[in-house]
Amino acid sequence: MGILDTELKFLKGVGETRASLLAKELGIVTFRDLLYHFPFRYTDRSRFYSISEFVGNDMPSVQVRGSFTGFSVEGEGMKERLVGYFTDGHRFMQIVWFSGIKRLQSTLQTGRTYILFGKPQIFRESYSMSHPEIDLYDPEAPPEGMRGIYNLTETLRRRGFNQRLMQNIVRNLLDHPKLTAAEVGETLPSRLLEKHHYPGLYESLRALHIPQDNVQMQRATERMKFEELFYIELNILRIAGQRRASQQGAVMQRVGEKFNTFYSSVIPFDLTGAQKRVIKDIRADMLTGRQMNRLLQGDVGSGKTMVAFMTMLLGVDNGYQASLMAPTEILATQHYETLREWGDKIGVRVELLTGSTRVKKRREIDAGLRAGSIHILVGTHALLEEKVEFSRLGIAVIDEQHRFGVAQRARMWAKAQIPPHILVMTATPIPRTLAMTVYGDLDVSVIDELPPGRKPVQTRLCYDENREEVYRLMGQELRAGRQVYVVYPLVKENEKLALRSVEEGLERISEIFPSYPVVMVHGQMKPDVKDRAMERFVSGEARIMVATTVIEVGVNVPNASVMVIENAERFGLSQLHQLRGRVGRGADRSYCILMGKLKMGADTRKRLGIMTETSDGFVISEADMELRGPGDMEGTQQSGIPFNLKIASLARDGQMVALARQEAETTLQEAYAGRYPQQELDIYGRELHLRFRHKVDWSIIS
Ligand code: ADP
Ligand code: MG
Repeated sequence: MGILDTELKFLKGVGETRASLLAKELGIVTFRDLLYHFPFRYTDRSRFYSISEFVGNDMPSVQVRGSFTGFSVEGEGMKERLVGYFTDGHRFMQIVWFSGIKRLQSTLQTGRTYILFGKPQIFRESYSMSHPEIDLYDPEAPPEGMRGIYNLTETLRRRGFNQRLMQNIVRNLLDHPKLTAAEVGETLPSRLLEKHHYPGLYESLRALHIPQDNVQMQRATERMKFEELFYIELNILRIAGQRRASQQGAVMQRVGEKFNTFYSSVIPFDLTGAQKRVIKDIRADMLTGRQMNRLLQGDVGSGKTMVAFMTMLLGVDNGYQASLMAPTEILATQHYETLREWGDKIGVRVELLTGSTRVKKRREIDAGLRAGSIHILVGTHALLEEKVEFSRLGIAVIDEQHRFGVAQRARMWAKAQIPPHILVMTATPIPRTLAMTVYGDLDVSVIDELPPGRKPVQTRLCYDENREEVYRLMGQELRAGRQVYVVYPLVKENEKLALRSVEEGLERISEIFPSYPVVMVHGQMKPDVKDRAMERFVSGEARIMVATTVIEVGVNVPNASVMVIENAERFGLSQLHQLRGRVGRGADRSYCILMGKLKMGADTRKRLGIMTETSDGFVISEADMELRGPGDMEGTQQSGIPFNLKIASLARDGQMVALARQEAETTLQEAYAGRYPQQELDIYGRELHLRFRHKVDWSIIS
């Protein structure tokens, strides 16, 4: 038990009450917890700004020194405000107060020098500040420097726990005589500290709470980010390495008759370069004697199904069976239809198993699976049931992985003596650094090329004001025989509201286009009712589908040419991209209309602007990640990676993630090769244990 494990109540300025508040509100219990509760930003009082230095509306709070030339009370009633005319000696700005007017009038004086600390805002083309912190200027006082701003909760604030108090408590901690560099210790080996010129842990922690200047704060931040990401990567790589070394997999040596026949005489087009490359990756995996665990990323429409089918043929040619699992019945059915058509031409038997497969058919499938006469089984979660037994399952393909958990993936493994090779397909293109981290135990392949001749979907931002134009476009496409989607956001907090907007949409659309059958699909429908509605649209009988985001996952209706997205601002970029991918799958020209309000915020306009500018899923997902943070991105939830990182951000620190990954790779290799001193190995062992509760044995792999 070192000083860091001391309970916070023993710290000067804390005591029982505050300690229990901090524990409850922020989970801060020990000295260590507080030391690692970093500010999320800083106020910089290390220098004075002049008004002429102000730029834009996004400046942080700054410090200005100067005097008031006069005051006036303006407005009446609720709008009453005190305006002070403030100058730094060169320029003027207005300072505005909406409350405490009497008190301010009696204390503030013209002609005296004050220090203001606040956020400059542009108002009527000149700068102003409202309710700045205000102090009389004292030429004797030492400059305040930088101060950390901490995350506090509402409850804490109500109980008088403000930034000042937090800053004081932290200062008391840092001034504690027993909190020495030796006690704090070191979490990175000197090898890495020296290589990257990082400050030591003690110095970094101090600098993060009470930095002397920006440079010092930046260096400390970098070091702590590196440390955090480095251990995450080290842990992932270690686990993946162990799995790779230990998990046996079937060897599929032959590129046989079915694969070759399909390739040379069935496929009606040439594979794209990207498809060929991925198939090569997969082939290589299957020769290693270890289980393949590969993530196949490819934008909507990039031809993942083809790659999956050819992978399965590799298995079939080597005497194995294969399965393809999809997240919904509709998707499974669509896959089944595609695969059966291909399979029929080369003597490969494909069957479909879902929750609604009839008993008789089900028995037939069970028998066929055990006898080995069924080569490929397509289905939903139903495939995971224990009673589904293969005679020789060699390959399991999982479509749209984010709907399935890691645990479910593992259940497929249990269906064969040697675990089947696993191919996970996803259309959520997450940036590579993130993919490597989130799917740490999967190898990643990317189809980064669309089949030739795809025309990008024309994407437009439209406003309620010109709805008529949108209806004209819909009418034009409907008359040309096309189909149309109209999608409404699903409001999680208020499903009733969402439902109402879909129902109103249905009504309105039916009124405007009385001669075209419309179906409605939303998440609160019974599955079979929903499926029937979907089928009516897929078959072309219904011409318009009004829906919430349930259609997001993969329906394929090549005849659909218009996607109208209502309240587009409510969707994440990746979601919009997925939705847009529903059109442009067949028609010559297709359209995606993002409906928005004329008055939208700058951020929203920027976000939707990205959609109109690019159709590259990776560009969109990078942007999305920057705007929303990776924790909210689809595909990341089940990864088990802690997204509430203390200091690094997987979204914004992409380069640091890459650096940490690279160092972790080298470190792991060298550690297993016995090239580091025991002291260094001890650091890694201790940190991995502390952070992930794993025990490390450096002799396992060598
Ligand atoms: P994904 O599942 O990646 O969204 P699909 O596998 O559904 O994409 O493919 C979309 C469409 O493109 C399908 O109609 C498919 O037959 C077709 N396709 C796949 N590969 C090619 C290719 N190399 N050239 C032309 N069309 C292709
Ligand atoms: Mg697909």
